[in-house]
Amino acid sequence: MALDELYREVILDHYRNPRNRQPLGAPGAHADGHNPLCGDEISLDILVVDDTVTEVSIVGRGCSISQSSASMMSEAIKGKTRAEIAELTGRFKAMMDIDTEGDAGLDPDRPGSVLGDLEALQGVRKFPVRIKCANLAWTTLEEALGEAK
Ligand code: ZN
Repeated sequence: MALDELYREVILDHYRNPRNRQPLGAPGAHADGHNPLCGDEISLDILVVDDTVTEVSIVGRGCSISQSSASMMSEAIKGKTRAEIAELTGRFKAMMDIDTEGDAGLDPDRPGSVLGDLEALQGVRKFPVRIKCANLAWTTLEEALGEAK
């Protein structure tokens, strides 16, 4: 299977079977994300305990890129500390060519290779309008992390 085809499969799988949609077990921090260019919406709740995101709940509607990115992000951040999530966010943005500072230590030929399923989104870089779709979950996450104590 060609890599592009594999990426498409991964994106569609997350779009059709989004992860972490169940509500949190306890009240957490909340943030809403909206991408008016495409009509994408995301509602994110996270529970942060001792600097670690222990629970994630994310629901939304919109295009396959925004919703699959949200699902992948929810899997990637669960169980991670704020520091680990900051590193992950930096790598994701570097992969997507979004205002990154310095070198995120990524392989220039395959910048997403340390990101698991999220690597599937790297093809979106070629479509600047869609980068906002892919990034929506991550800007919403930054807001929720800011809300969390
Ligand atoms: Zn979109």
